[in-house]
Amino acid sequence: MSQHTSVYDHWIDGRHVAGSSTRVGDVYDPATGSVVRGVRLADESDVDLAVAAATRAFEGWGETSVTARSRVMFDFRQLLVEHEDELAAIISAEHGKTLSDAKGEVVRGREVVEFACGIPQLLKGEYSDQVSGSVDSFSFRQPLGVVAGITPFNFPIMVPLWMHPVAIATGNTFVLKPSERVPGASDLVARLYREAGLPDGVFNVVHGDKVAVDAVLDHPDVAAVSFVGSTPIARYVHERAGTTGKRVQALGGAKNHAVVMPDADLDFAADHIVAAGYGSAGQRCMAISAVVAVGPAADTLVAKIGERTHAVRVGVGTDPDAEMGPVVTRASRDRIVDLIGQGESAGAKVVVDGRDLVVDGHADGFFVGPTLIDHVTTGMSVYTDEIFGPVLAVLRVESLDEALALVNANPYGNGTAVFTSSGEVARTFQRRVHVGMIGINVPVPVPMAFHSFGGWKDSLFGDHHIHGPEGVHFYTRAKVVTSRWPHVSEDSLAALHFPTAH
Ligand code: NAD
Repeated sequence: MSQHTSVYDHWIDGRHVAGSSTRVGDVYDPATGSVVRGVRLADESDVDLAVAAATRAFEGWGETSVTARSRVMFDFRQLLVEHEDELAAIISAEHGKTLSDAKGEVVRGREVVEFACGIPQLLKGEYSDQVSGSVDSFSFRQPLGVVAGITPFNFPIMVPLWMHPVAIATGNTFVLKPSERVPGASDLVARLYREAGLPDGVFNVVHGDKVAVDAVLDHPDVAAVSFVGSTPIARYVHERAGTTGKRVQALGGAKNHAVVMPDADLDFAADHIVAAGYGSAGQRCMAISAVVAVGPAADTLVAKIGERTHAVRVGVGTDPDAEMGPVVTRASRDRIVDLIGQGESAGAKVVVDGRDLVVDGHADGFFVGPTLIDHVTTGMSVYTDEIFGPVLAVLRVESLDEALALVNANPYGNGTAVFTSSGEVARTFQRRVHVGMIGINVPVPVPMAFHSFGGWKDSLFGDHHIHGPEGVHFYTRAKVVTSRWPHVSEDSLAALHFPTAH
């Protein structure tokens, strides 16, 4: 064992399990920089145990009526409401984000549970009467079996909730491998599912790192994998799980541009860009990280964003006055600081510099202040790399066409926004931009739970976006039945030619 006073165990078959691996990871409080707890890091046999439990549970759950499955979701949703504060506190403590931001993610995740409550309606098939003489045809969808989710640190509850409510409501059983940096929320979610009446083994949590991920990807009894994380790992997961024949959706990283047209309300744009760039310390896959200032208003826009950047209050997540907390690890902090320096050395102008920020009483916390960097060009690493920190990079262009070319040349295609007062510009932008999720005067256009979430290009590998109707399709497969209950007559005698309607 280790120096940890307490350790998160796995959750397998309805109870906590230590497993056979002796490896334990550190869980930090990013505001103090100290280790607060340990987390088990699973080996292959621990993953086997979870998949075996999920396989056994599927025998019953896959046969459970759709209304009974929906009722569990209703009860689970209620428990998420009752435990909202507790969940937010765990998220804030392990991730560093403010309590209000953590509550926001609990609510947005819960909306996927609300969507999953409607599963009887969502799973209705189609029926065609009398497609031929005495022949009817109908389609329906069935669950895949055991499915798995592998999730990132930045939304400890919301991103897993994009997956498991839809997977479970459609009749699958689930193995979650959450980020080892923020394991607490998933542990509580497992206990809440149990309280909601979900049978043991339907939802399992295996904590771990690459060893656990690889065991999931290679496991012959896992039918599908949903992954959300950085682009290199998403690409790897897609390839490796694909070679064992699994269905895969792997959502990757992002570089999200806000294009600001000269006709936009610049105060409105600056307010929203600051919120979208620095909220959660920029650690959102839909955070705005690049501002594309179009035309002569660029200087005014940068001045307005600069004023607001200076005013952002940074502090520990539990401070009610704080608008932004620390970043997740020391390594992440150092990397962000280094990338700002690389931009400066390459000729960009640091307008607001957050590199030396110290929060009173938290000198060892992983804090970086909000940073605004102007005159960035597309070759600089501060633009090409996903910084995943509170850094806004401003690029300047002369026209909408130039802005579209710049956004479309970027390898990522997760989210983007245009700020404009012109309907024509907005329509041109939404039709021509090569990005999956688009905001028109909306900086963080995360689709509601009843739509599907997903980017283009290097932001998503696989065919299905996540949650919403595409989530239901991802976790189920279709059957089409052609049936006849014949009245035996001359007409119904079989012939050897290919069947055609008559
Ligand atoms: P990450 O890729 O480091 O980790 C994601 C998951 O993969 C974790 O569970 C981790 O344990 C596992 N993992 C890490 N390294 C691995 C390896 N070498 N082999 C196998 N598994 C590995 O991502 P992160 O740092 O936790 O999260 C931040 C990233 O996630 C950012 O790039 C962000 O843009 C992205 N993200 C994307 C979306 C989206 O919807 N597209 C949403 C949230 C976050």
